[in-house]
Amino acid sequence: MSDMMKAIMKMKPGKGLELREVPVPKPGLGEVLIKIRKTAICGTDLHIYNWDPWSEKNIRTPLIIGHEYVGEIAELGAGVTGLTVGERVSGEGHIVCHQCRNCRAGNSQWCKHTKGVGVNRDGAFAEYIVIPASNVIPINPEIDEDVVAFFDAYGNATHTALMFDVVGEDVLITGAGAIGVMAAAICRRNGARSVVVTDVNDYRLALAKRMGATEVINVARDRIEDTFAAHKIVEGFDVGLEMSGNPSALSSMITLMRNGGKMALLGILSKDAQVDFNEIIFKGLTVQGIYGRRMYETWYKMMAMVEGGLDLTPIITHRFHYSDFDKGFEAMNTGRSGKVILDWTY
Ligand code: NAD
Ligand code: ZN
Repeated sequence: MSDMMKAIMKMKPGKGLELREVPVPKPGLGEVLIKIRKTAICGTDLHIYNWDPWSEKNIRTPLIIGHEYVGEIAELGAGVTGLTVGERVSGEGHIVCHQCRNCRAGNSQWCKHTKGVGVNRDGAFAEYIVIPASNVIPINPEIDEDVVAFFDAYGNATHTALMFDVVGEDVLITGAGAIGVMAAAICRRNGARSVVVTDVNDYRLALAKRMGATEVINVARDRIEDTFAAHKIVEGFDVGLEMSGNPSALSSMITLMRNGGKMALLGILSKDAQVDFNEIIFKGLTVQGIYGRRMYETWYKMMAMVEGGLDLTPIITHRFHYSDFDKGFEAMNTGRSGKVILDWTY
């Protein structure tokens, strides 16, 4: 093994990324070195690539970006037990403290000191990554490797979609990005009666339809409530999953929920987003903010659903060698993409 590796890095503030040669990190006490095989591009990576205001505020350079990956264990640091060199793994992208109140209660997704892989510390768009052993997730080697590459995002979709009971319920998903599309498939698989998905992008709505949405609506053209009769929705949606981060999608969701409905909010809103709190109060709505995935319950459910036949391969729309990462980010920027996979195996 060479001492140096290729890595996709943000070297300085501004648009774009660079392919660099950097030292292979060494696993310290309780850490694991993973040899990366495939990575997937997340919306967060696109924000960092484009250097939007969020990135400007949150990203310190130089940084290896990326947090969606699959690989195999290359080396165990001192004190690591229960894992084996060569084992197929992915990794939970939030590094937590294990000491705050939520961590101690088993709610590490709400850790007070969480650090994001590829955001607050070096990430996975490289030939190797080091993470704490507690973040390493062994993955069934029979699952399609390209699908495992985006298990982190699939985890966001799973955690949000399973937040509330969807059996027999009418579900509204606003936003047909990769996460919204996966959430539609998960809701259908878990017994939702209807799954209505909205977006302003027909390419992505077609993907949602293909993955099992019972209805897709381009809200730039059509009104959501006009489809109620066709789906026998009388009082409104029982469950709402906000996955667009668009304030108008959130307020229309609040309006279209039935009294007593339940909403899980994943999409990240801009500062000036406004909602009518009185509508939430008078309708008795439950609103749950979602961050990350449950550690590690969500990972078990994710694996079980895929092993049980949930097919996520249709959402993979592009594959590139890692050195062609610019093409991957360009595809994401056009909006005519699902998941983009980068290959580190050759
Ligand atoms: P994405 O940007 O690929 O998808 C968002 C979709 O919303 C796009 O397809 C866009 O066209 C659509 N949209 C825009 N305006 C809309 C409107 N008015 N109505 C309906 N849809 C509209 O993002 P993604 O990767 O699928 O992630 C979904 C959201 O979740 C993003 O806001 C992302 O930042 C957020 N996120 C949150 C967490 C968390 O832990 N809370 C984790 C991952 C992602
Ligand atoms: Zn903590």
